Amino acid sequence: MSWVDVPEGSDFPIENLPFGIFRPRDEEPRVGVRIGDHVVDVAAAGIEPDLAARPSLNALMASGHGGAVRERVAELLTGPERPDVVHPIADVQVLMPIDVVDYIDFYSSIHHATNLGRILRPDSEPLLPNWRQLPVAYHGRARTVVVSGTPVERPAGLVADASGTGRLTPTRALDIELEVGFLVGGQPAARIEPDHADRHVFGVVLLNDWSARDIQGFEYQPLGPHLAKSFATTISPWVVTLEALRPYLVEPPAQEPPPDPYLRAALPWAVDLELRVELNGTPITATNFSHMYWTFAQQLAHLTVNGAPAGSGDLFGSGTVSGPTKGERGSLIELTWRGAEPLTLDDGSTRTFLEDGDTVTVRGWCGGGDRPRIGFGEATGTIVPTPEAP
Ligand code: CA
Repeated sequence: MSWVDVPEGSDFPIENLPFGIFRPRDEEPRVGVRIGDHVVDVAAAGIEPDLAARPSLNALMASGHGGAVRERVAELLTGPERPDVVHPIADVQVLMPIDVVDYIDFYSSIHHATNLGRILRPDSEPLLPNWRQLPVAYHGRARTVVVSGTPVERPAGLVADASGTGRLTPTRALDIELEVGFLVGGQPAARIEPDHADRHVFGVVLLNDWSARDIQGFEYQPLGPHLAKSFATTISPWVVTLEALRPYLVEPPAQEPPPDPYLRAALPWAVDLELRVELNGTPITATNFSHMYWTFAQQLAHLTVNGAPAGSGDLFGSGTVSGPTKGERGSLIELTWRGAEPLTLDDGSTRTFLEDGDTVTVRGWCGGGDRPRIGFGEATGTIVPTPEAP
């Protein structure tokens, strides 16, 4: 038991202890560890101050000392009381946890990829032939990954008019993608084996890959999404360590055909992680991350197999998480079947895609009930109008 009181049902019991960056009033940003409704100031507690008195987690992630720091914080919280190194969460500012070095986004839910294939290419096979052989991905923009709470400007881009000519216009098809993000730690490494993923993945966050479907529709062939997604990606601020998630690793779905040997794992790398999405407070999606066809361990193996290293500060997204049933779809284009079946919100209004002022909140947790709840907090964002042209 911790001497910091943890409210019943909190996402952040002593078994979790995720890392983040916070700023106490009038002081510099530094590394914190979340417990209940409080934050431990790691540097002030005298734990690895060279790594912890920093405005991002990158140095700590690169050092390989994350596990040891987390153990020392757990000892601190179960030893003699040190209220001088703990802040109530309401008294601090919670900031972007990492400087994202590189950002890759996968496309690894078979349910999402099948739904999108049916919507976008109704007359052909929904899955392209390569999809079951490799975890398909595109390269995103590190610079526009933002922390939960950051407003999201409605992007403008070229959208096809009736004649098929692209016209610069604010998107009218602004969407979400419910995802899980993986933060790489350690020194840069290439050709990582799937079963060594836990040596390289530092932690996990919730991720919303905001997407402008009309801009995407005009630009995506033949090289994939670009400006339709690069305007903003929201992540949750508390980085849940893989160590905390270890009891919730489970067997992934069987893969047919069996993948190439470099993608084969002996260990179970799916995560039994409940995921929820609310739009203006109305629940719109409830699913579980364990449905994913490709695991994060396979994704990491894939993105390094050609010799391109992954190291501290790299972020990769799981791809939209959709489950097998209608209520488990992780994007509005699927939930509304590209606008054909609008959603009705609790206030009686309807949505196909997002309107200015809309707020989307992603939540996630492992366990609960008689098992420790390893929660992620939330990743939220509110849509603001496209700025006026100067
Ligand atoms: Ca995505």
